[in-house]
Amino acid sequence: MDIRAPKGTDDILPPESRLWHHAVVAFDNLAERYGYGMTLTPLFEQTELFARGVGEDTEVVEKQMYTFSDRKGRSLTLRPEATASVVRAFLAAGGEGVLKGAYSGPMFRYERPQKGRRRQFYQVGVEYLGDSGPFADVEVIELGYRYLQEMGVPDVAVQLNSIGDGADRATFRTVLQQWLRERQDQLSSDARRRIETNPMRVLDSKVDTEVTLDAPTPAEFLGEDSLSHFSAVRAGLERVGVPYVIEPRLVRGLDYYNRTVFEYVPRQYGAAQSAVGGGGRYDGLAEVLGGRPTPGVGLALGLDRILLASDGVDLGPSLDAFIVVAEPDRLPDAVSLSSRLRREGWRIDVDHAARSVKAQFKKADKKGAGSVIVVGAEWVDSEVAVRDLVSGVQEVIPVEEVGQWLSNR
Ligand code: AMP
Repeated sequence: MDIRAPKGTDDILPPESRLWHHAVVAFDNLAERYGYGMTLTPLFEQTELFARGVGEDTEVVEKQMYTFSDRKGRSLTLRPEATASVVRAFLAAGGEGVLKGAYSGPMFRYERPQKGRRRQFYQVGVEYLGDSGPFADVEVIELGYRYLQEMGVPDVAVQLNSIGDGADRATFRTVLQQWLRERQDQLSSDARRRIETNPMRVLDSKVDTEVTLDAPTPAEFLGEDSLSHFSAVRAGLERVGVPYVIEPRLVRGLDYYNRTVFEYVPRQYGAAQSAVGGGGRYDGLAEVLGGRPTPGVGLALGLDRILLASDGVDLGPSLDAFIVVAEPDRLPDAVSLSSRLRREGWRIDVDHAARSVKAQFKKADKKGAGSVIVVGAEWVDSEVAVRDLVSGVQEVIPVEEVGQWLSNR
């Protein structure tokens, strides 16, 4: 067959997909422990949402969106991220009170594919809307940090910065703009263009780091409110035991971001390029989308990169038992036993293909079963042989006691 998956996309099949499933379930459970509820929004949206909500002069909107016209000629785009969608959904539902929303799912960006940089990739994230206080930031940052710990990503540095509020940012922007103009000959063409449209993006640029190393940073321009918010966030993180480092050059170039910004970088990586996730406060986003002012803070983590950076997670056996059919005539008995045990809640697989016993044992092993139940000659006495594949202990027990035996393992 010469039809392949599109460039930059992946098929993820068992057994590898088990880890992905675990990653999503672990995130959902963790988010639930922090009071976040599942938030489902469309995989495609009006292009306008991202043009406004991500920003016209960002890499994502300029170069990376999967945009198409539907049959009625409407411009739609596969979501490159979820924050704008969640805020849109909150506003559409009335925008009252607080929303603590968690999501997980694929995002789409037309990038040059490489390891950890895919055209369809998987994010998990939360958005906390309707609370402007520093403890909302602390909660979101902590949640991401704990998740990375649970996922076995060693030694994560939480890089933290504050980019201030409207007035602070305006002053910083003017000063930075002037500073960049004086050095524009040394900047890339993208960076030169952004001096006028969005100078903070230039600090984000990976190709201009040498030039911008000594550029002014937002910290020098923080007003009183931003300063006290920032110190409360830092104190809060210390209080809940999340280590962080201040990264003065960390910015989010989008106009609606304010105050807290952060990224999670596995220390082994170093380069900012390899953040496994990040987020920030975006009190201006709801207004940019045409809604009433609504404070918000959120994070997004990329599963592709988390799984690459992970030291591994012990998932244990994937099956409680694999049923080996030792005599082909016993297949219907094995099927009814598997049905009964599954209804009791056990994870059971059975080989339907009447292979050799040896081949079935191999399969049990390959599938990661914790034990094997052999349906064979003993069945006439309503008995089966059971073997614990971890301890190697084998015995013959009455078939009604299999559930009990599995519980005692
Ligand atoms: P961003 O929305 O750009 O802040 O990205 C948040 C996280 O999503 C990143 O830290 C990555 O882990 C992940 N991510 C973003 N773009 C990609 C991509 N093209 N391929 C894989 N992961 C990505």
